[in-house]
Amino acid sequence: MTKASAGQVRVTGLEARLIATGIKMKRSQGIGSVQGKVKRILLRLRTDAGVEGIGEAAPWEVFSGTAEAALAALDLYLRPIVVGADPRRIQSIMAACDRALYDNFEAKAAVEMALFDICGKLTGLPVSGLLGGAVRDRIPMSFSIANPDIDADVAMAKRLHGEGVRIFKVKTGFSDHANDLRRLTKLRKELPDDIDLRVDYNQGLQSWDALPKLREIEQFKPTFIEQPVPRPQLDVMAALTAALDTPIMADEAVFSPAEALRLVEKRAADIVSVKLMKSGGILNARKINAICETAGIPCYGGTLWEGGVALAAGTHFIAATANMSLGCEFYMPKFVLEEDVLTEIVPIEDGHVIVPKGPGLGVTLNEDAVERLTVEKR
Ligand SMILES: [Mg+2]
Repeated sequence: MTKASAGQVRVTGLEARLIATGIKMKRSQGIGSVQGKVKRILLRLRTDAGVEGIGEAAPWEVFSGTAEAALAALDLYLRPIVVGADPRRIQSIMAACDRALYDNFEAKAAVEMALFDICGKLTGLPVSGLLGGAVRDRIPMSFSIANPDIDADVAMAKRLHGEGVRIFKVKTGFSDHANDLRRLTKLRKELPDDIDLRVDYNQGLQSWDALPKLREIEQFKPTFIEQPVPRPQLDVMAALTAALDTPIMADEAVFSPAEALRLVEKRAADIVSVKLMKSGGILNARKINAICETAGIPCYGGTLWEGGVALAAGTHFIAATANMSLGCEFYMPKFVLEEDVLTEIVPIEDGHVIVPKGPGLGVTLNEDAVERLTVEKR
């Protein structure tokens, strides 16, 4: 009898590493720009059952938290809860994490995905299987147009279109409105008609003139306009949602299930972007999705600066959650990061992310890369 079947599995160790990875191009994303390196946390949970779970926390300092804070949260506050616990009791461990530490969603998401990884490896099931089974095997992938050099982005988008990518999300609001109109005109002119164009302001507009600006954006027929105004301005979001023909998507406005409920009450968006780094993991992400689904609001799989481990978790979540129906933006490991920590990244084929079928998250660490990219280990 294995230890797992005898009911004796324990987490025996937690290792958290701050890793830094170079990126291939400059990214300007409304509320912040990224150039050079992105920092994130790689988490490993060891067990006495011979399996290890991996997780990742990928905060973005202008959006939510910092990698350094996530490292401290895991090392100092979550370690005492996780080590010694039965990794199969995911809900009870996550409830204890919530009691011990306020917010820190990214660190909690990392713990939860590592626990799901362990449970999958113990049972032989992929994480999507643990979540009730996949309802889709591939997920349409959106690439973000976020390079301040629009010519470089048009060239990149044309190349990706040749590889099957059809969804492009343009980051707007980081320069002036006239420049956004010029960029969108160029993209619509130079890219084929079959692209699904989306626009993301990352809170970049001010409430007083958002409506006239967005009315001009509507001529480009975007599939949706994402988070036009700052996170607290839910009433402005509701007014824009009512006034515009183009669907509005909430991103920064919804981190938690409670915020999803408030958004539904105010009808402050037509679509919600769900991110494991905002919700603190898959279980909360599913609550957010359930609230939205019940209200007739479809959801989309957004990201911060995750690498392949966290995106594998996001892929399983979307695979097993029918209402996460508007695709994902899980392009970072293949198209932006210079190097990831996996032996093989989750495949992207014909513009779609392919859902891993192996046990747990279905991804394996490249130990050489892990060592090379480590800045600090605890
Ligand atoms: Mg966004």
